[in-house]
Amino acid sequence: MRKPIIAGNWKMNKTISDAIELVNGLKRNLYKIEDVDIVVCPPSTVLSDTAEVLMDSNIHLGGQNIFWEEKGAFTGEVSAVFLKDLGCRYVIVGHSERRQYFGETNEGVNKKTKTALRTGLFPIVCVGEKLNERESGKTFDVIKDHVTNGLKDINGKEILNCVVAYEPVWAIGTGKTATPQQAEEVHKFIRGLLLEMYSKEISSSIRLQYGGSVTPENISSLMEMPDIDGALVGGASLKVDSFSEIVRKSSEVKKRCTYS
Ligand code: PEP
Repeated sequence: MRKPIIAGNWKMNKTISDAIELVNGLKRNLYKIEDVDIVVCPPSTVLSDTAEVLMDSNIHLGGQNIFWEEKGAFTGEVSAVFLKDLGCRYVIVGHSERRQYFGETNEGVNKKTKTALRTGLFPIVCVGEKLNERESGKTFDVIKDHVTNGLKDINGKEILNCVVAYEPVWAIGTGKTATPQQAEEVHKFIRGLLLEMYSKEISSSIRLQYGGSVTPENISSLMEMPDIDGALVGGASLKVDSFSEIVRKSSEVKKRCTYS
């Protein structure tokens, strides 16, 4: 049984005081939830303050990006070692906004994923097709490219510490969610790719998240899908009530769904 994982990607939002208010609210609302891994990924500038609030809570901290080198002359970059030092457990790697605005490639994603694993962070590796790629029937080719190259040479033990987030680019921040069937189709495909790369036992243990305009209104139908183990949430993770509701509903759905 895969433990659901709901992660909030705050992107470039929240000052220190806003961040503290948000995590305090989440702590109050979610302290009883034990059957979902809850993660927040604030900007690096507020990680230290949020880490202090979240210490000894059931909410884990994650970074939004790392560089693949651990230290040195790389102005403006954040090291996986620094995130670990701050108490982070997870890090998002290869988000589509990083691919789109900062030229991130599958090769870079692969290097960052390996660095995260070596440092003891759990990478959330993002994959997903753009609208024109979906419309021209290339979805599965793009996903195969992202998965096989992004996770290249990661062994069977390491991959169990990775989460793969399927985020169709056309659904991110647009209010257009993939239907549960569309999302499940790609999740199933990703699990099939993982089966080709690893064993049956390993591929069926890796957690796959959906991301793209997830809200309290659509989370349940997505979580009902057998290969969807959680969500990477952008906009709706910025408010206490909506993120709490997404976590609560995920917990409820996975309690009642048993898959053969
Ligand atoms: C994201 O940033 O990964 C994301 C899915 O954003 P949103 O939920 O706002 O679409």
